Amino acid sequence: MEKHLRPTSIDVLARQLSQIHALPHAVLVDCARAAVELNQHDTFGAASLLAADFAGHLLGDVVNATGVLLHTNLGRAPRAYDAERTAHFRAVNVEFDLDEGRRSSRHESISSLLRLLINAESALVVNNNAAAVMLVASALAHGRGIAVSRGESVEIGGGFRIPEVIEQSGANLVDVGTTNKTYRSDFQKAIENSDVALIMSIHSSNFELSGFVHRPTTAELSTLDCPLVVDIGSGLLDNTCPWLTTQGISVPPWLGGEPAARQALADGAAVVTFSGDKLLGGPQCGIIAGRRALVDQCAKHPLMRAVRPGTDIMMDIQSTLLSYLTREAIRKIPFWSMVAETEENLYRRAVEVVRNAEIGFVEKVESIPGAGSAPSARISSWAVVLEGDFAALLRHNNPPIIARLDRDRTICDLRSIAREDDAVLACAIRTILN
Ligand SMILES: *Cc1c(COP(=O)(O)O)cnc(C)c1O
Repeated sequence: MEKHLRPTSIDVLARQLSQIHALPHAVLVDCARAAVELNQHDTFGAASLLAADFAGHLLGDVVNATGVLLHTNLGRAPRAYDAERTAHFRAVNVEFDLDEGRRSSRHESISSLLRLLINAESALVVNNNAAAVMLVASALAHGRGIAVSRGESVEIGGGFRIPEVIEQSGANLVDVGTTNKTYRSDFQKAIENSDVALIMSIHSSNFELSGFVHRPTTAELSTLDCPLVVDIGSGLLDNTCPWLTTQGISVPPWLGGEPAARQALADGAAVVTFSGDKLLGGPQCGIIAGRRALVDQCAKHPLMRAVRPGTDIMMDIQSTLLSYLTREAIRKIPFWSMVAETEENLYRRAVEVVRNAEIGFVEKVESIPGAGSAPSARISSWAVVLEGDFAALLRHNNPPIIARLDRDRTICDLRSIAREDDAVLACAIRTILN
């Protein structure tokens, strides 16, 4: 019977690899074996490349220097480590009433916070906003019609197409109006002529119609005899931004056109749906908020069990919402910290990075919110610029730094970088270029 061909040499090679790669022995043995099979002149070099490739595919922290504040490939809203939780293991009262000592609903904490923040009677958290829209359509309109303007029957990012989501939910899409112009009277007709359970208004996010266009307002649609669901997408809680204005920061002009949850409900929407990790700045999740009877119907639907998030997400979204209430959003929610950072500070930080890196220069640039939120918005910022393409070298830094390329220049926008990582950036640049 044949035994391992070269067990000792592979083991030795794996041990050598462990000097430079912090990976499990089993992984290094696999790389060593694959490198031996490649039968190249430099077996150690080949094995080391395979190990580096393996490490490069593991998830880990990166420094986002792209200037896209909510970068879909980098996990959208960045999260700060919650140092207030204990390091040893403990359970979470996710479905347990501490007062009564018995089972409770896992949505009570979120509902009570969103009642204060956006004046919603009730709320529900699911895995993402796609799940929120799917659940709302399934629970509230299965076998019946959902009226959607032809101008809002859109695709939002890979694989999320409103007509397909509605079809999957078992409801029927009722097309209303035209691509560019849809009026309240078109919806009125649709309700009279077909069995419409819901009107759905979808924020087109990363797509804009302009020119000869008309769409009815939320206030207009909410006076029709049919519940109105508004998918606002980005999760801006309130367009007056009290978490900024109470801190002496005015509402950024680029937020102007974004629909907000509080105002949509005030204008008469029965339900709003939005993502947790866009402008809300929280973890990946989706929120369904609005009239209690409708939210309860969603909570009771069998799909709810399949789309409910785990306790870590519930804790994280709760602390995000608490930060809005305690007016600590710009300190505790990384997205709002990035937004609130002044141009003067960004300039000073950029100058300091260039001084410590001993190379490069500072330049005024524009950041963008990203994730399809406020798609035409530009936010003034300052960057450290290097002549030449150093993107790959920066990506291989530890921690990896993701920069932007503009022609043959490498741009590191400081607005999407935490102040604490300026030294990491300076050190990486100095090491790479000198
Ligand atoms: C982003 C977005 C979605 C999808 O949300 P996910 O949280 O990515 O699932 C749905 N609708 C609108 C309007 C959006 O902007």
